[in-house]
Amino acid sequence: MPQVSIALAPGDGIGPEIMNATLDLMKAAGVHDHVEFVPVEMGAAVFAKGNTRGMTAEAISKTEDCGILFKGPMGTPSGGGGKSINVTARKLWNAYANFRTFKTLPGVETVYSKAGIHVDFSIVRENIEDTYGGVEHRLSNDTIQCKRLISAPGCDEVHRFAFQTARIMGLKKVHCGHKANIMKMTDGLFLERFKTAGKDFPEIETGDVIVDALCLNLVVKPQQYQMIVLPNLQGDIVSDLCAGLVGGLGFAPSANIGNHISIFEAVHGTAPDIAGKGIGNPTSLILSGLMMLRHICLVKEAANLENALLATLESGAHTGDFGDKSKPTLNTQQFVDAIKSNLGNKPKTVPAVPVPAGNTQTFTRPPRPNGQQVIRTFKNLVTHVVGCDIYLDSPLAPISLAEEMNRCAEDTPFRLTLISNRGTQVWPTGSVYTECVDYYRVRFELKDGVVAGSFGQSRCVSLMDKIAEKFTVCSYELLRTFEGVKGYSMAQGQ
Ligand code: NAD
Repeated sequence: MPQVSIALAPGDGIGPEIMNATLDLMKAAGVHDHVEFVPVEMGAAVFAKGNTRGMTAEAISKTEDCGILFKGPMGTPSGGGGKSINVTARKLWNAYANFRTFKTLPGVETVYSKAGIHVDFSIVRENIEDTYGGVEHRLSNDTIQCKRLISAPGCDEVHRFAFQTARIMGLKKVHCGHKANIMKMTDGLFLERFKTAGKDFPEIETGDVIVDALCLNLVVKPQQYQMIVLPNLQGDIVSDLCAGLVGGLGFAPSANIGNHISIFEAVHGTAPDIAGKGIGNPTSLILSGLMMLRHICLVKEAANLENALLATLESGAHTGDFGDKSKPTLNTQQFVDAIKSNLGNKPKTVPAVPVPAGNTQTFTRPPRPNGQQVIRTFKNLVTHVVGCDIYLDSPLAPISLAEEMNRCAEDTPFRLTLISNRGTQVWPTGSVYTECVDYYRVRFELKDGVVAGSFGQSRCVSLMDKIAEKFTVCSYELLRTFEGVKGYSMAQGQ
């Protein structure tokens, strides 16, 4: 009687071919004695019916019932309303930590394997926040913005996952990759929460590295890292770079872990150029499946399968996209048959994975939450309104805009303190060489003698209202202090 139900979405293109092969392999390893796979409808066929989420309501509810989704690659329609199923699924179900491992595999030749450098580390990428909020607006004729949101509880969830996983893996050091030297507040928060989370794991050393230096270090000396935690967009880019270190996306498994629902997937695309030919490489999906088996406590089956895969790769068996071309190229099913024939065998040139006599733990699906949770880190901080930034669509030159804004601020508690354009101060001081576009930030702060906290945000809204009589106000942001600390950044050049 199966103990675990897993929602199964084979995907598009080569997805069904590599998924069938992977399931065939899992069956041979005894996985189906413990697992029931529940087919769900997601992907191109669902988009084609006009469903812009690419997944049916039934697929959503079945996945929520199972708590685990095993998926093949899925195509995102170009243009139109169709959104990436991968991004939708991660965000919908709060699968906040994208966990990807990068390991040199026998038989998969890379510049590093040729140089005798063994690559073995993992990336934990924050999966929900950052620019992936998809909050984008056209602000003026010439300017579009994408809001980058980073929250303390969002950071805390991903950092806790990283340290807990590092502890289970017995890692000695975890790095945080970031750009806090430039994005001092958003990446600054990501880094600060990393350091705070690390204090609960005293046996693990912490380090941090600016993301551009990280890319250089990874290419030059990848073996210096064990685990790196990154914000969403930087993690997306860096993890593909890392896949390149071990032979490409076909060898880099991916798990998206949440508190309730987790998603295991191949990270390569649907490979439309070879779809239907039965020649796709199933290794990435198999490796992601191994992560899934370990997640549901089928450690013995995962270890057996991993050893069989390593022994097969070591023997030189390969699909058309990699490997020793002097050896015959196998199609998807032949490749999986070779792995099946190695079940019970162990690799000889790389360490075998220890196979336990049995599984000691069982997977329990977390209970469905009663309602949507509001997650919070900081509560009840003392905040005071100290001004506002008003964003304007205007073709005026800074000096003319300043005259207009000063007039608007008369008879209010505010004075104009700054005008910036694309983040660079252009008033009260600036350079004639700074080019301006048609979108300004105008900053108003309390006049001398006005006490912070003596009024709320309505005075800022009244000022905005006054400005809106003459200008197009695109948006406004309150300037507040939190426990006396400014909750806003300075402009470049201020
Ligand atoms: P792709 O990964 O599908 O293909 C890039 C190249 O790699 C192709 O030459 C392809 O044949 C090869 N390739 C990829 N996976 C392979 C495998 N397992 N075995 C052998 N060769 C393989 O990238 P693309 O062409 O940019 O994207 C095609 C479609 O996939 C797009 O619709 C895109 O949106 C989608 N996509 C989906 C995912 C996902 O679901 N995780 C990820 C990336 C792209």
